[in-house]
Amino acid sequence: MVVIGGGVIGTSVAYQLAKTKRKVMLIEKGEIGGQTSGSCDKAIFLQSKQPGLPIQMAKASMRLYENLEDELGMSIEFKKNGGMIVIESDTHMDAMAKFVKERKKAGMDVKLLDRNETLAWQPGLSSHIAGAAFSKEDAEVNPLRLSQAFAQAAKRYGAVVRTHTEVTDIICADGKVTGVQTTDGKIAAETVVNAAGPFASQIAEMTGIGLTIMPRRGAILITEKIEPFIHGNILCSQYIAAKHAASGDGDIPPYGIGLSLGQTERGNLLIGASREFKGYDKAVGPDVLSAIASHATRIAPALNNVNIIRTMVGFRPFTGDGLPIIDKAKAVEGFITAAGHEGDGIALAPITGHLVISLLEDEEHYKDWLKRLRLERMHEV
Ligand SMILES: Cc1cc2nc3c(=O)[nH]c(=O)nc-3n(C[C@H](O)[C@H](O)[C@H](O)COP(=O)(O)OP(=O)(O)OC[C@H]3O[C@@H](n4cnc5c(N)ncnc54)[C@H](O)[C@@H]3O)c2cc1C
Repeated sequence: MVVIGGGVIGTSVAYQLAKTKRKVMLIEKGEIGGQTSGSCDKAIFLQSKQPGLPIQMAKASMRLYENLEDELGMSIEFKKNGGMIVIESDTHMDAMAKFVKERKKAGMDVKLLDRNETLAWQPGLSSHIAGAAFSKEDAEVNPLRLSQAFAQAAKRYGAVVRTHTEVTDIICADGKVTGVQTTDGKIAAETVVNAAGPFASQIAEMTGIGLTIMPRRGAILITEKIEPFIHGNILCSQYIAAKHAASGDGDIPPYGIGLSLGQTERGNLLIGASREFKGYDKAVGPDVLSAIASHATRIAPALNNVNIIRTMVGFRPFTGDGLPIIDKAKAVEGFITAAGHEGDGIALAPITGHLVISLLEDEEHYKDWLKRLRLERMHEV
């Protein structure tokens, strides 16, 4: 079996395939975690997901995260420090009260905090903050280490990992996959898993299958190392609006900006983020970067005194309906897609590996979920 893509999704899939005693080769055109999975935030937010399947998947993934560090045998900097969605204006409190109520109904431990409770938990925030939705179930992880840990553990189970090797074609005969052509020769395989994230449409095209996964660009500012500044991870209610708004929706803030704030183990702050459709262009202009900075400093004024040392840009794999595609292609036997996780790929990586196994083994366990994650739904809407 060949897995294309060495981000969190491809490495998670390769790990599960190898662990279940399948012969696997993971092929990555650059480095492990070298694309979106190494240019993103570190949050494993549950409360930011929509009720229904998105929350169910995120909760199942979180259960897998609980023991993942031990299982993979390497630190992935997983911490369950809680997460907060800050609300800037009293006029948004009603909508956020509804947001909290819906998530409680979905079985989540989330509560609405008033201004004083919010500032007591996050003293770095501005005193104009009206309140926040808080959940102690939200967590964080180092996404780059996660991709590397999955790849290393897959190798221990016998997987071969080939980096700096690009898949240039998928070879098919009589409607079946027979292998892949790479920049380093042909590889025979009866099953190919397309885990190329924002590049998954290009891989599907090699088999003649149309797959609508668009790159949704996001930029993050990285600061110098500072003393612990926040507790857990922070989003703002504008982030939730930008994330769930459809393309062309008039409610999207300029550049799709909404605050995401996290702090690495070493002390660097990750300040995000934007959401834009600009193809695969990584050149983010100063207008976008300064808009991210002004939005963040409005919410956390102390950030005005912290230096930005660099920026990073990633492409969220966007499907349009907030759900990834995890499915077998009907027209080409042996071609599987596991891609399209938009802004939730870090949170959903562990469960995605399990879902691919369930798909291959035709297990009952996740059958209802997999029905909703199918490829065809993109052409039905
Ligand atoms: C700014 C930003 C912030 C985010 N924050 C969060 C967050 O806090 N929490 C969260 O859950 N998610 C977050 N996300 C989303 C998350 O990063 C993605 O959903 C996830 O990284 C996607 O992983 P992937 O493995 O599908 O894609 P990628 O990491 O992009 O991996 C795909 C891989 O396929 C490889 N590839 C492509 N074509 C080929 C080819 N022809 N041959 C071989 N290899 C190929 C690429 O080189 C790449 O390494 C964020 C995203 C962005 C952009």
